[in-house]
Amino acid sequence: MKKFSIVIAGGGSTYTPGIVMTLLKHLDRFPIRQLKLYDNDGARQKVIADACEVILREKAPDINFVATTDPEEGFTDVDFVMAQIRVGKYAMRDKDEKIPLKYGVIGQETCGPGGIAYGLRSIGGVLEIANYMEKYSPNAWMLNYSNPASIVAEATRRLKPNSKILNICDMPVGIQERMAKLAGLNYYNDLEVRYFGLNHFGWWTAVRDKQGNDLMPKIRDYIAEHGYLLPGMNEEPSWKATFGMAKNTFALDPDRFPNTYLQYYLYTKFEAEHMDPNHTRTDEVREGREKFVFSECRRIAKSQSIEGLKFEPDDHSNYIVDLSRAIAYNTHERMLVIVENNGAVANFEPTAMVEVPCIVGANGPERLAMGDIPRFQKGLLEQQVAVEKLAVDAWVEHSYLKLWQALTLSHTVPDAAVAKKILDDLVEANKGFWPELK
Ligand code: NAD
Repeated sequence: MKKFSIVIAGGGSTYTPGIVMTLLKHLDRFPIRQLKLYDNDGARQKVIADACEVILREKAPDINFVATTDPEEGFTDVDFVMAQIRVGKYAMRDKDEKIPLKYGVIGQETCGPGGIAYGLRSIGGVLEIANYMEKYSPNAWMLNYSNPASIVAEATRRLKPNSKILNICDMPVGIQERMAKLAGLNYYNDLEVRYFGLNHFGWWTAVRDKQGNDLMPKIRDYIAEHGYLLPGMNEEPSWKATFGMAKNTFALDPDRFPNTYLQYYLYTKFEAEHMDPNHTRTDEVREGREKFVFSECRRIAKSQSIEGLKFEPDDHSNYIVDLSRAIAYNTHERMLVIVENNGAVANFEPTAMVEVPCIVGANGPERLAMGDIPRFQKGLLEQQVAVEKLAVDAWVEHSYLKLWQALTLSHTVPDAAVAKKILDDLVEANKGFWPELK
């Protein structure tokens, strides 16, 4: 059985230990011979790498482990690039969230002006990773989690049309895991779904078990009353609110189950009013996930032991490993991937990067036809896809005007005047990250 070589780009990510744990758990079905971490912040990555080294030494000493900031060392001799970079790190995410809130507009990592700002930082970083892969391991596949996935996907479609890059998201996976539990099943992949939309902007039109039974009637009443909030789960306040809010989004179209991110576009005023401009999701992540991951890594490295190890595989890591397996073994597994529409959603822009079920095999994803979509969703999607395309136009053409248009068109922004104020602050904050706009 072939053994694979993987590089995690953005090795210093809070998600790296989870991916390592999942890879180790699945060695019998997805064997690996080499694992590399690559990051352009050596100090941040070292904390994670020192712990991963101990974990691998204890659990799988045969795997060659490398942590590097050198692209050639990182990207040579790899089969898969698992990318999860955050250009500008949490310091810039903080600004993405807090600047719009100064003007009463939603401050969110991937939605609205914050997401657009993040997009303009991410495009260059993701293209750089893709270029390294093509230079040093031209046969490799890049599986990209780096956000904002919709803008990044539009940029890779346009600027790297022949590359082996798959843009993916763990949010539908997390929601499907909840749907599975509501239906008395265990995992996201116990379900077979029909889904359409853009990333962080979509709906499930069918949820079935592997025998083909329709599970929607079984879980509909629960979702109408509680959203995706499950009893007994220990969740951070913002996630609790998000999963609960899905019941309101669902009320707008009780025939389709919504992605949670639609809350920002459909209950915009409520969401903006309920965000604390001095303590946003970034602060929650820094005080929660980042603190936990980095302190646990330091503890492992210091003790040089995995006793009491708290890292576990999760939805995020399971999905990227399942996707790698599907490509590696040509499994033709049905998975959600962000691909060029090209008819998958019949009555929608052919060049939009849509998130739809695909059959994934050795040659990548083959999209499944989702047919026509209703006017309500079509109207929302047309507006949002224009925002994302204008943002990429702005990056390519260095155009202030296109970026102003993108912000103005976002459903989260009330008008062009507010869009301009936010944009001018974002331009200032993103100096050195964005192309210089004319
Ligand atoms: P993080 O800040 O903890 O880690 C990101 C790492 O990327 C940092 O170590 C940073 O130094 C590194 N980095 C930044 N620019 C780089 C570059 N040009 N080259 C190499 N490395 C670079 O972030 P996180 O919270 O762990 O999230 C990581 C990424 O995964 C983010 O883009 C986040 O939005 C994304 N994410 C996506 C999903 C999804 O479903 N699509 C889910 C969770 C997280």
